Amino acid sequence: MNTTTLNADDIQRAITRIAHEILEKNKGIRDLALVGIRTRGVTFAERLQAKIEEIEKTKVDLGILDITLYRDDIGTSNQKPELKRTAIDFPIETRKIILCDDVLFTGRTIRAAIDALMDFGRPSLVQLAVLIDRGHRELPFRPDYVGKNIPTSRDMRVQVKLKEIDGQDQVVVLNK
Ligand code: 5GP
Ligand code: MG
Repeated sequence: MNTTTLNADDIQRAITRIAHEILEKNKGIRDLALVGIRTRGVTFAERLQAKIEEIEKTKVDLGILDITLYRDDIGTSNQKPELKRTAIDFPIETRKIILCDDVLFTGRTIRAAIDALMDFGRPSLVQLAVLIDRGHRELPFRPDYVGKNIPTSRDMRVQVKLKEIDGQDQVVVLNK
């Protein structure tokens, strides 16, 4: 059975809360920048950017990392993250970077994202914001900001729909 875990109001409330948490933890917007991981991590980052602008009347910079998981050709089921494309058109040197993704699972994508970021320069700090933390970490990452923790089994899938891409806001846990 598939169950809706977050509806549109839940998602927008979580984003509003996270925007406030980011501002509280960093004592305002000074040096802040958002970096979204494609695809829905970018939409999540854009919503945070809009909410932060609503609160602080200032737009923070937003960059994009495109990291795609691929299966290596040796035939294992292991998925490896590969950096495809980046669009970060501001200096990240000494900035406070908030990495944004829709779902945090093993942490391998975040590791690749941090590696890619460090090639651009040296931020003063990197924090992690995710809409959903579904557990099963294989690397020592813990998000600073979480929309919702959803305990899953490994073969479950969390479907995240955001209206800019999918026409509606909804998070559903799919039991395979
Ligand atoms: P990782 O295992 O690297 O933490 O997650 C891999 C990537 O796949 C991340 O970008 C994450 O957003 C996505 N991902 C992992 N599990 C799920 C899931 O259950 N649902 C969705 N929508 N994305 C997932
Ligand atoms: Mg993703």
